[in-house]
Amino acid sequence: MEILLASANLHKFEEFKKMLGQVGSTFSILKAQESLEVEESGGSYTENAYLKAKAYYEKFNTPTMSDDSGLDVLSLPDELGIYSARFGGEGLSDSDRVNLLLDKLQGQGFEDRQAAFTCVLCFYLSPKEVFFFEGRLTGYIANAVTGSGGFGYDPVFIPFDHGEPLEEKEIAKLFTLAENPSWKKENSHRAKACRHAIEFFKERVCQNV
Ligand code: IMP
Repeated sequence: MEILLASANLHKFEEFKKMLGQVGSTFSILKAQESLEVEESGGSYTENAYLKAKAYYEKFNTPTMSDDSGLDVLSLPDELGIYSARFGGEGLSDSDRVNLLLDKLQGQGFEDRQAAFTCVLCFYLSPKEVFFFEGRLTGYIANAVTGSGGFGYDPVFIPFDHGEPLEEKEIAKLFTLAENPSWKKENSHRAKACRHAIEFFKERVCQNV
């Protein structure tokens, strides 16, 4: 199945091409020839992903896939989430945003530093066939920047399951996503959402043959 990626971001294109184009998957990801300015005016990741996929579908008249993602921080409700790319206002760099986040959480313990990345994928195959897949990665916001890989909030995001007790001896083994890009590649919110999509569409193809 050929799917147009509703984004002109080359980094996203390469990442999704690898994740969705794995052996055994049913997808071949295509790059859009033109970038569309789509206002992300939705109130959720799902709505924003839908708006992007629909706009590209209507312009290029071909099955389309989009994503929307962000970081939610428990003690800063409504500040990041769908606004993560704009946290602190326009004109800030990734590292400015990371430093702002660290400032806002200064003095807070691990319980208040709970956070999660979310990715929602929207597959807009036709107006009557629209599918959504979500991936989440839970963790904590670190006290300081560590590591040089990845992008965005990776240098302060420590992946960890909130359900598990965070014991003293475990803390020494923790890492930020920026310190461990190969772990991130397999376990990120985007990787999880892609796996859900691959499983669903494989099943769907099987049922249609
Ligand atoms: P969008 O999905 O392109 O709208 O971007 C959402 C924003 O969330 C990005 O600009 C990043 O700030 C943040 N974000 C999303 N995924 C990641 C990630 O994997 N690592 C670090 N930051 C991320």
